[in-house]
Amino acid sequence: MIKDDIKKVLVSEKQIVERCKQLGSEINEDYRDTKDLLLVGILKGSLPFMAELIKYIELDVEIDFMAAKSYQGTESLGDIKIVKDLDTSVMGRDLLLVEDIVDTGITIKELKRLLYNKGARDVKVVSLLDKPSRRQVDVEADYIGFQIENEFVVGFGLDYNQKYRNLPYIGVLKDELY
Ligand code: 5GP
Repeated sequence: MIKDDIKKVLVSEKQIVERCKQLGSEINEDYRDTKDLLLVGILKGSLPFMAELIKYIELDVEIDFMAAKSYQGTESLGDIKIVKDLDTSVMGRDLLLVEDIVDTGITIKELKRLLYNKGARDVKVVSLLDKPSRRQVDVEADYIGFQIENEFVVGFGLDYNQKYRNLPYIGVLKDELY
């Protein structure tokens, strides 16, 4: 069972649900007058967070997904490739990117740049987790579920070698698994 690999639970399922309710009401308030909001889930990690968060968004929104991959071993920061693009046009629209975690910040900084280049009117970010101590570029999420220390976490969408995404909470793996 995957739960046997977990050393400690950092954020419980109950805490995540509660926080999604709060984030949902902030988003409802902030986007009250926005027409046509597009929620963009960044695959694969954002899947459970997106599913939980949209339950508490009462606005007329569309959802879409995209996937990006960073090139390993290249020295240039922000060299990412879109491996699945949006089905929807972003031209003139307000976007809210839904991310699992902002770590170095490179992914969201680059995705924001790409989406503005494609004509998005406004691009904001909601991230379940934030690791501010690891930031390498100047970017912040607009809505954050939980700030965490510099520790590698899995669960609720976050993987280690593509595993553990289906854990219903955020946890830290036992040391011997690395
Ligand atoms: P950034 O571009 O901000 O450095 O990285 C964002 C991506 O790195 C996240 O979407 C996530 O896939 C991965 N990542 C960063 N920190 C962690 C972590 O603690 N655990 C896991 N599983 N993935 C992480």
